[in-house]
Amino acid sequence: MIGNLDIAKLRSNEYRESKVRGEFMVSIRIPGSLFPSSLLPIVQEIADKYGSGQIHMQTRQKLSIPNISYKDVEAVNKLLEPIIKTMEVDVCGIDLDTTQEGYASIGARNIINCIGSIHCPFGNIDTVALAKKVEKIIYPNHYHLKVVIVGCPNDCAKANMADFGIMGMSKIDWDYNRCVGCGACVRECGQHVTAALGAQNGKAIKQPGKCIGCGACVKVCPTQAWSRNPQKYYWVKIGGRTGKQTPRAGQTMFKWIKEEPLLEVIGNIFKFEDYMLDGQPIYRHFGHLIDDGSYNVFRDFILGTSELAQSRGVVPVKLNEEVLVADKLYWVEDKQNPDVYMHTH
Ligand code: SF4
Ligand code: SF4
Ligand code: SF4
Repeated sequence: MIGNLDIAKLRSNEYRESKVRGEFMVSIRIPGSLFPSSLLPIVQEIADKYGSGQIHMQTRQKLSIPNISYKDVEAVNKLLEPIIKTMEVDVCGIDLDTTQEGYASIGARNIINCIGSIHCPFGNIDTVALAKKVEKIIYPNHYHLKVVIVGCPNDCAKANMADFGIMGMSKIDWDYNRCVGCGACVRECGQHVTAALGAQNGKAIKQPGKCIGCGACVKVCPTQAWSRNPQKYYWVKIGGRTGKQTPRAGQTMFKWIKEEPLLEVIGNIFKFEDYMLDGQPIYRHFGHLIDDGSYNVFRDFILGTSELAQSRGVVPVKLNEEVLVADKLYWVEDKQNPDVYMHTH
């Protein structure tokens, strides 16, 4: 406690204490990662009046304002109100009890997303729109979860290192008559992707099992013989993490899952965390919870196929028929023990 302020509560309101006792950095969630310029003057006012005139571009795509005294928390929360209302209530459609007392929770972290198809020529999906839908499911919540969404498997925002990483995929349609056999798609896929394409009788040919739906062939084809099917699909990697103990890349749980079952799955994640933590949202990294429970228990729980899940109110997820679900996961972890492999020179 500082004065009558509860530090743990402040932390869950997006205030992080600095090295100086009584001094905090407040962070602004930006679901979808697009921030209206009309709200920037408020951020400037908070920084100028209550901070040190500086704004930190935070690693989770938040705007953070350091050097705020605990005495000014209430005044800062008052200024934050229109930002929280716009970004969470108006943009994401979240029903919050109040927008006047700062952020409601920090457990489910701000979603990170790349710009996706609203700008990037490689984008298979509208990452901004998906982030807003996911925000509506995960916020506010005190259970821990880090979601990253990217528009294609190039993974510029590192979904591979997230608790729950989502990458947009497209089925690529093929028009035989348009192909002039120039080989550009074969070279592109061979040099930069999975070498799923070859040439046969002067036409491109695909090995479907090797295609990861990235869409790079679409971009290089001069005759539009390849085109993205409008149906959107997602590739999901789970359990990636950084940290001091056992950092690791995430592993594939789903390929070719559609949006509706994807959102149902995300909605079930907190029920799994609630089960694993006995209803106590203490800080425990989501990836460790999967390890504690085992992947198979986790999978059957969030798909709602196990008796355990159903006994806790999880409804079975209606998966689309093309989806591939991992039977097993094989983690590769770094034990953070450099002495074993290193020596002085
Ligand atoms: S991940 Fe793909 S869609 Fe997103 S910015 Fe990178 S290349 Fe573009
Ligand atoms: S969509 Fe498939 S075939 Fe096309 S470049 Fe990507 S992996 Fe290769
Ligand atoms: S880039 Fe287009 S035209 Fe060239 S081989 Fe591939 S599909 Fe055919």
